[in-house]
Amino acid sequence: MQQTPTPGVLEVVTGPMFSGKSEELIRRLKRARIARQRVACYKPDIDLRYHRTAIASHSSQTHDAEVIATVEDLRDKLFPILGETDVVGIDEAQFLSPEIVPLALELVALGKRVLIAGLDTTFANEPFGPVPNLMALADKVTKLSAVCMVCGQAAIHTQRLGQSQELVVVGAAGLYEARCRTHFSPFTDEHGSQQLELSAQIQA
Ligand code: ADP
Ligand code: MG
Repeated sequence: MQQTPTPGVLEVVTGPMFSGKSEELIRRLKRARIARQRVACYKPDIDLRYHRTAIASHSSQTHDAEVIATVEDLRDKLFPILGETDVVGIDEAQFLSPEIVPLALELVALGKRVLIAGLDTTFANEPFGPVPNLMALADKVTKLSAVCMVCGQAAIHTQRLGQSQELVVVGAAGLYEARCRTHFSPFTDEHGSQQLELSAQIQA
């Protein structure tokens, strides 16, 4: 048998908001560190919901992360420390440009384990940024579901509540919730509008 260098691996964790993508990414990164692997973690600067220097889950778990403005910025920050890095984690990858795909494959070819978490679809039910391409090229894809906030069934969709159709309104509490196929609607949302009015009343 021929001796060939061991390539790395590309793992993608995807699903709607609240499905536990960040939790799962944090879990895998923590296990890698327990195995004494050297971990570098990044997130795009569009997602500043909780921390500037960490990825965070809705259940308040965190892992140190460096904020990146672009894929080029990620390359500039990562390559100087690549020799001391075994595992590269990236959260909220849906906000990155398509250049993340060849960079992820380059890192895998260099023997790195690349863990990427991100939304697979937008609230309009369109493929979200580079995540579907990353899924297609991954060694392993974990598609998580959340709990539908209307009926409690498994939710694969992210529902935008209220009327705004802007694509990127990041993380504002009460603006999104997880929905199953039955209770998801990409453009109109009678359940959500009611809930938004309710939460406005509660806050008032
Ligand atoms: P993601 O990164 O996919 O948005 P997180 O890892 O940040 O998800 O958060 C997952 C956590 O969110 C769950 O463990 C749970 O505590 C909380 N949560 C809030 N709403 C829901 C929901 N509708 N379905 C599942 N988990 C939810
Ligand atoms: Mg997340």
